[in-house]
Amino acid sequence: MWLIVSKASFTSDGVNVIVVTRTRSVNQEPTHRCEQCSRVYSHHSSLRNHQKFECGKPAQFGCPLCQYRCKRKGNLKSHIRNVH
Ligand SMILES: [Zn+2]
Ligand SMILES: [Zn+2]
Repeated sequence: MWLIVSKASFTSDGVNVIVVTRTRSVNQEPTHRCEQCSRVYSHHSSLRNHQKFECGKPAQFGCPLCQYRCKRKGNLKSHIRNVH
């Protein structure tokens, strides 16, 4: 839901200027912030996944073909697809 504030005013030339400001309403989706690194996720499960596998964790997936390491299996898959 968006709150729209409209304001009409006149400049010195007599030109009608309409100012429309859009502000996010207070009913916005709650965000989930990681207290360790201040990353923000829109879904609680994404934050949990981040804290479980990424935040402060060493890279645990290593490429068998080179020295590349990463924290996510998906990243390793795309590395192998793109590089090798
Ligand atoms: Zn974090
Ligand atoms: Zn590799």
